[in-house]
Amino acid sequence: MVKELLENSLDAGASNLRVEIENGGRRLIRIVDDGCGMLRDDALLAFERHATSKLRDVKDLLSIATLGFRGEALPSIASVSRLLLETRSEEEQTGTRVEIAGGKILSCDEIARAGGTSITVRDLFFNVPARKKFLRSEQTELAHIASLVTHYSLAHPDKTFELWNGGANLLLATPVATARERVFQVFGGQTLEDLVELEGRKGLLQMPEPDEPAREFVLRGFISRPQVQKNNRNSIYIFVNGRLIRDRLLLHALSSAYHNLMPPACFPFALLFLECDCEEVDVNVHPSKTEVRFRHQSWAHDFVRDAIREQLMQSRPAPSFSYSSHPHAQPAAELPYSESSQQIQDAPVFVMQPPLLPPPRFDFGDGGIAVAPQQAQPLKLRIPDTHGAFPDGAYSPPSSMARIGDLRPLGQLHNSFIVAAGVDGLWIIDQHVAHERILFEQALAQMAAGNAHSQRLLMPKIVELTAEQQIEYARIADELLLSGFDTEPFGNRTIAIKAAPAGVDFGDLDRVLLEILEIAENELRSVSLSDLRRGIAASVACRAAIKINTPLDQKKMEWMLRALGATEYPMACPHGRPVALQYGMKEILKAFHRI
Ligand code: ADP
Ligand code: MG
Repeated sequence: MVKELLENSLDAGASNLRVEIENGGRRLIRIVDDGCGMLRDDALLAFERHATSKLRDVKDLLSIATLGFRGEALPSIASVSRLLLETRSEEEQTGTRVEIAGGKILSCDEIARAGGTSITVRDLFFNVPARKKFLRSEQTELAHIASLVTHYSLAHPDKTFELWNGGANLLLATPVATARERVFQVFGGQTLEDLVELEGRKGLLQMPEPDEPAREFVLRGFISRPQVQKNNRNSIYIFVNGRLIRDRLLLHALSSAYHNLMPPACFPFALLFLECDCEEVDVNVHPSKTEVRFRHQSWAHDFVRDAIREQLMQSRPAPSFSYSSHPHAQPAAELPYSESSQQIQDAPVFVMQPPLLPPPRFDFGDGGIAVAPQQAQPLKLRIPDTHGAFPDGAYSPPSSMARIGDLRPLGQLHNSFIVAAGVDGLWIIDQHVAHERILFEQALAQMAAGNAHSQRLLMPKIVELTAEQQIEYARIADELLLSGFDTEPFGNRTIAIKAAPAGVDFGDLDRVLLEILEIAENELRSVSLSDLRRGIAASVACRAAIKINTPLDQKKMEWMLRALGATEYPMACPHGRPVALQYGMKEILKAFHRI
């Protein structure tokens, strides 16, 4: 509901938005804006169903640029609450005040007020007791609203957003010039250091008709370096044409971009703003307008995936030593301490799952975000402002691994880690993981080119399969051949491996093959061929890579660093483990009290 009201204010061109709530919104929700306001007649009309002012023409349905368009939010909200609307349009001398309870207009008066609109919603569901019990706990609602306002403020850095809860200020974001500064404002410098900025990546979708101009898609926003790993999707916010949405296709595109950079059950932090031609996206597929459908689904998916992947490849953010202490699924930064943050610290986290409760009769489109109260964990929501002004150039993006090939190996630690020096500090590289990354990219390239390095076996290796594995085997036989496995059926549910990818030990062959069949079983049905190939390559690379506890001479270490530097993505192994840690010059100098 707050989402609908915020979107209305943004539609009205407001540049100051103030949200006040009490009791998690049950007692009161008020949104005050300085937008265009409403004419007296329109103010009354706004409460009639389908009274939207935003469709001038049926054709408009195809190109919906404003956030709302169905004229249903205000009447729905008014029918289940006591609502007070105060508004004045620039075109009128006086303002209008409309009072409604349970959908009935109680009064409509002229008032004096400044331009803009204020909508106050009290006693939500006072007349629908049955619906009341579907209201989530106060803390949950509060956390949800805070997250919503925070993220809309990120989408509009040029506007002022305020959030007040029972008189306490939870968010105050004053206008800033860039999205980067807004991120700093609401999340602080630590978060900013963990993020890589997507700087307006463009994609052109060619239309089949020669005279139709190509459609432009632009993706901007922020994504976390792969070492920042969350165990759910709560830190992923996707806006399509200014609207906050939850879309499976785009969530999948994001995950695929991090595929092989992050362990499977982990998720990044992401703040994505996708802009595209309104005709390319249908926002009218879900009553709460939180889902969208792209006209060219797979194109949109691949564009988003590739834009993110390319940005990651390009900036190659290096993990720093501070990450070594919590390698897995670290929690998001805590809320800055304040009384109000303490209050909401214990609220459960949002999980993106279908609602556990039956769907509510009135769907106000709160994002389709269900809350699983049994998963009570500390709230991973970072709000309030008050990080002060943006310090000029103080927050540089994570240092890059682009020059890893120039490092000078100093030696080995425990015959397992290469220690190396570079202009930017000291590096430790996990030799097995590094080699894995090198072999993984090699295998992928060879598969794509159809010339996998295959090794003929002196004696075929016989592998027994279950019935299911047999089916998968038949299905991916071509891909196996491409990856360097030469196999043939050998009696009932048994196959013989006659040749295998170079580097894999004879003793490991059956395990690699079974692992690949398992990937095929899990993934082939839902995931693309390229993901299957990645799975095969990862599996082969892992077995063929040099192990830890293997002494390496200087030449081998040099080769390893150069080869790693030449990979597309030297930061993580195909399973998402980090390849290298960096102890930056700045940290070294600091530790020696030299700066
Ligand atoms: P929709 O946004 O889908 O058009 P709503 O029920 O949300 O439908 O709003 C109905 C109408 O009320 C809008 O079309 C708009 O003209 C007007 N309106 C709602 N909120 C505001 C606001 N904050 N400022 C100006 N006009 C508003
Ligand atoms: Mg609306």
